[in-house]
Order: sequence, then C-alpha cells, then structure tokens
Amino acid sequence: MISRIDLRGSLPGDPRSVLPRAELDVEAALDKVRPICEDVRHRGSQAVREHTKALDGVELESVRVPVRAVHQALAGLDAAVREALEESIRRARAVHRDQRRTDTTTRVVPGGTVTERWIPVGRVGLYVPGGRAVYPSSVVMNVVPAQEAGVGSLAVTSPAQKEFGGLPHPTILAACALLGVEEVYAAGGAQAIAMFAYGTDECPRADLVTGPGNVYVAAAKRLLKGVIGIDAEAGPTEIAILADDTADPVDVAADLISQAEHDVLAAAVLVTDSVRLADEVERELKAQVARTKHTERITEALAGRQSGIVLVDGIDDGLRVVDAYAAEHLEIHTADAPAVAARVRNAGAIFVGRFAPVSLGDYLAGSNHVLPTGGCACHSSGLSVQTFLRGVHVVEYDRDALAQATGRVVALAEAEDLPAHGAALKARFDWEIPS
Ligand code: NAD
Repeated sequence: MISRIDLRGSLPGDPRSVLPRAELDVEAALDKVRPICEDVRHRGSQAVREHTKALDGVELESVRVPVRAVHQALAGLDAAVREALEESIRRARAVHRDQRRTDTTTRVVPGGTVTERWIPVGRVGLYVPGGRAVYPSSVVMNVVPAQEAGVGSLAVTSPAQKEFGGLPHPTILAACALLGVEEVYAAGGAQAIAMFAYGTDECPRADLVTGPGNVYVAAAKRLLKGVIGIDAEAGPTEIAILADDTADPVDVAADLISQAEHDVLAAAVLVTDSVRLADEVERELKAQVARTKHTERITEALAGRQSGIVLVDGIDDGLRVVDAYAAEHLEIHTADAPAVAARVRNAGAIFVGRFAPVSLGDYLAGSNHVLPTGGCACHSSGLSVQTFLRGVHVVEYDRDALAQATGRVVALAEAEDLPAHGAALKARFDWEIPS
C-alpha cells in the first residue's frame, strides 16, 4: 500500500533526490490555461461563462452570485456547522489579529528618518477550491487574514456546482455570509484567476489573488503573475510525520490517511527510526483505509510515488530528512516533541505532539491552512496578514542631513558611472554639475 525508502546507513548529503514527491506538471497545464486566460482577457464575463459550461458543465446567467443567495445559504446552514465555523473564525481572527504590523520609524542620522509604513493591498481576489471537495474552511483561511490586514475590497470565487443550480457550494456561500463577504463569483480554475487578473464587465480587476487550487489554478497563477500578484502555487496537500518508537501507530496512520483523503496526488510521508513503528503503521493503514469513506482515493494517494515510509538511523537524521522535504504540514511524534520541533527549519506549519494533529489545523487551531507545498516551505510562508500588506519606505531628510550625505552619494554614483545621480544632489547646494 505504501512504499518504503530505507536510508539507514546511506543518508545522502542532500536527501531531496531520494525522497518521495508529487510531480505536479504545472508546465504542461500552462498550454491548457493560456488560451482560457487570453479569452477571458479579451471577452470578459462571456468567456468565463463559456469555459464554466465546458469545464464544469454549468450554464451561468451571471458569474456574480446574487447577494440574496449568499444570505439564503447562511439561513439554511446546519446549526452545528454554523457553530463550528463561527468558532473557527473566532480562533483564526485571534491569531491573525496578533500578526498585524505596526509602522516603524528609524532615525538614521540627525535629520534623516526612514519609516516603514504597512499598507494593505487595495483589492484582493480569494480563490476557494471546489472541484473534488468543497472547502468552506478555505473561505475562513483566505478572508480572515485579508480582513485583519485591512484590505478594503475583497471578492471570493469558487467553482459553479451543477447540483446547486450553478452556485458555489452553499456551505462556501454561508461561510462568506458569516464573514460579511457579499461579493462572490461562481467561477473556478484558470478562468477565475484570469477574471481577477484582467477584470471583466462583472468583476473589477484585483491587485492580488490568493488561495489554493488544482494544477490549472497553479498554472494560471504562474502565467498571470505580474499582471496580478499571487501568494503561491499551493499544490496538492502534504503531510510528513517525524516519529520515534514512542509514537502511537494508530494516531500516525490516522493522520497520514486524513491528508491522503484530499486528493489522489496528496502526499503522506512517515519519517522514523523505528522499524517496529513502521511495521505497525503499515498494518494500521491497511485496517483504517478499509474502514474509511474515500477508500479508493486514499489508497491511490498512499500508493503514489509522492508517499512513503522513510527509515533513518535516528532523530537527528530524521530532522535532516524533514528539513530537506520541507513539508506543507509536519507532525512531530517523538519523546520531547517540543524540543525536536524547535530544531525544525523547513515546514509550512509544525504540529507538536499527539494532541495537535493536522486536521485540527485544517479547521480550528487558529493557524492558517493555506501553506506552501512542493518543497516551497524552505523559502515561503503560508497565508498571513503579511500576505496582504506592503511595506512602503517613507524617506525624510532635512537640508543638513542631505548635505552630509552628498559626498558619499557622489562617490558611489561615480563608481557606478551614473554621474547624474550625484548631480541631482549637488544641484540642491549649488555645487558644480559635471557637463
Ligand atoms: P479546484 O477548485 O482547484 O479546481 C476546479 C476547477 O478546475 C474547475 O472549476 C475547472 O474550471 C478547472 N478544471 C478542471 N479540469 C480542467 C481541465 N482539464 N482544463 C482546465 N481546467 C480544468 O478544485 P480541485 O480540483 O478539487 O483541487 C483543489 C486542490 O486544492 C486539491 O489539490 C487540494 O489538495 C488543494 N487544497 C490545498 C490546500 C492548501 O492549503 N494547500 C487547501 C485546500 C485544498
């Protein structure tokens, strides 16, 4: 069901080449999404509707969801789901509120200051996936940091669903209503990203688009980056678990399965120095997968080349492996898990000990679940308030401070053969300007 990679006694200097990893062919998908994006650029909403008909099998009258449909969805929401969503929003808001940045002013020299002002992005488009599974939780994870950052205009889009009369899934609409978001569109895939990037007759263009999605969403983001800002190309979900002999195989197997449930391309990787644990987890996987709802999807994800059990010589080697892998989600199931977690350098989010599983983070921990995948956690962060802010430097120097800087600016400008740069300063003090 799941392959084994034995790195005991043979851990390479850079373990990345021997670790399991999903191969998401974004480049190949570019050829598919390019004509869709061009079409939306030139024909706007009409093109979004036609691609929605072709790809999602839904004929839309308008891409914009009527505001009353957003509110009706909330009125029809199951009470327990509503309560859980409200608590999820409350916890996420508490965490993201604490991420707000305050402006800093540095006095560089007497009379010279640089202030870093944090300014929210003007308008953002938030993508909530809705192909295979529906993700109302992703509404919370996108909208809350944008709101806490102070973004003035935000719109949500999610694929049109045939079974719901061409609207996005009602739980997604209800989550929007709970968050006070009334601008919602029924569009998915590349056509939705292009709608935000270029704007259409129904949807004003946005400055930034965020949110996870499938390979077509990732390809459209890659193609349109620059026309619109993007967060990351968040791909299929990943869980890595670093565990030793003290871990409970039932928990470990359940958590691997929980992420494999997302997608046949989802990655589930166990890194352990215990052969006994590896054997027991394998047995547990077989037993638990047979009992779960999405047996086929999970079996395919676990058997895929992106998943596996990696055997190492000890937790130090395990840490080298998980750092090289840079998982979207990393769980630590070892003795003294907090100390081991403190040594991790690369992960989208770290879940410490058996009472902090990834499923908690998916919905209710307060942390954000839109996280870097595909090894990008070695250079990128998940969604946060920071994603929706720009730091703008405001430079203020008085006459004396500029006069004192002029000689050095001239020296550096001449070293770069850009004498007009120096001349711009000299002109203020009637210094000789070179011809
Ligand atoms: P999706 O909304 O990303 O994609 C559905 C859209 O894809 C459709 O509306 C359609 O327009 C487009 N599409 C489908 N087939 C196409 C084709 N052949 N050519 C062009 N466009 C096509 O939903 P999904 O497919 O369920 O994917 C969601 C992904 O998001 C999963 O991989 C899941 O693991 C991931 N996810 C990641 C996170 C995270 O935080 N990293 C969170 C939730 C979901």
